Amino acid sequence: MSPEIARLFSLEGRVAIVAGASRGIGQAIASGLAGAGARVVGCGRSSDRANSQLRGFEYRQCDVTEDTSFDALCGEVMAAYGRLDVFVFAAGITMPAADHEQSIAEFAQTLSVNLVAAYRCALSATRRMAKTGSIVFVTSIGSLLGFPGNPGYLASKGGLRQLARAFALDLGSRGIRVNSLAPGYIHTAMTKASFSEPNQHATRAARTILGRWGSPEELAGAAIFLASDASAYMTGQDLVIDGGWTAKGL
Ligand code: NDP
Repeated sequence: MSPEIARLFSLEGRVAIVAGASRGIGQAIASGLAGAGARVVGCGRSSDRANSQLRGFEYRQCDVTEDTSFDALCGEVMAAYGRLDVFVFAAGITMPAADHEQSIAEFAQTLSVNLVAAYRCALSATRRMAKTGSIVFVTSIGSLLGFPGNPGYLASKGGLRQLARAFALDLGSRGIRVNSLAPGYIHTAMTKASFSEPNQHATRAARTILGRWGSPEELAGAAIFLASDASAYMTGQDLVIDGGWTAKGL
C-alpha cells in the first residue's frame, strides 16, 4: 500500500470515544479504531472490559442515559489527551413486544437510550471536538425498512438517522462530518435469540444477497473509513452494511 493511501485511513494521533463499547458492535468498532492508530476510550454500563488488553483502548463505566456522566467522561478525555476527533454512538437496546403491543414505558425507554442519549452525548462530544472531527451514529436497517413488533426500536433508529442529517447540517461549517452506519443482522448478544433459533436464523440469512449473518468485526472497516480522512468529503449519509439485505428485490 502506498504511504498516501495508508495515511488516508490512518487514525494515528486521533482521539476517539465509542459509546456502547462493552461488547458487540461497539466493541468491534472500538478495536478497529484503535487498530488504525487512534487512542480510544470506550464506555458502557457494565464493569466488564472484554478488550481491555488492546493497545490504545481504555474502558470506562458510563450510563449514557444519565444527565452528566457522559459529559464528565468527555471532560476527562480532554484533560488526559487534549483533543477529541471521533465520536461513535453504538449504545443501543431493543425491547421487542411479545404480543406485538409494546408498552408506552418500553417505547419511551428504547427512545431514551437509542435516540435521546445519542443527542445528549453528541452535544457533549461536539463541544470538545477539534475541527475536521467525525461523528458516527450506529443505526440499523430498521431505520430504512419496516419490521414487526418493535415500534420503539424502529422509531428510535429512524430518528437517529435523521439526527445524523440534522447534526451534519449544523456542524458542517465547523468542518465536523456526521454520518450513520446501518448494520443488517449481526451476531451479538442483542440478536442471540433469533441467531440461535434455526428458522429465524435461516429466514434472516436468506433475506441477504450474501446468504448469511454478519459479524461485529465486519463493521470495523466501515467505521474506520467514516472516522478517517478516507471519507473527508462525506457527510449526512447512511452507510449500509447488511450483506445486501436492502438491495435485494426478488
Ligand atoms: P449489544 O447488546 O451486544 O451491545 C449494546 C451495547 O450498548 C453494549 O455495549 C451496552 O453496554 C451498550 N449500552 C446499552 N445501554 C447503555 C446505556 N444506557 N449506557 C451505556 N451503554 C449502553 O448489541 P449490538 O452490539 O448488537 O448493538 C450495538 C448497536 O448496533 C445498537 O445500537 C444496535 O441497535 C445496533 N444494531 C445491531 C444490530 C444487530 O444485528 N446486532 C443490527 C442493527 C443495529 P452495557 O450493557 O455495558 O451498558
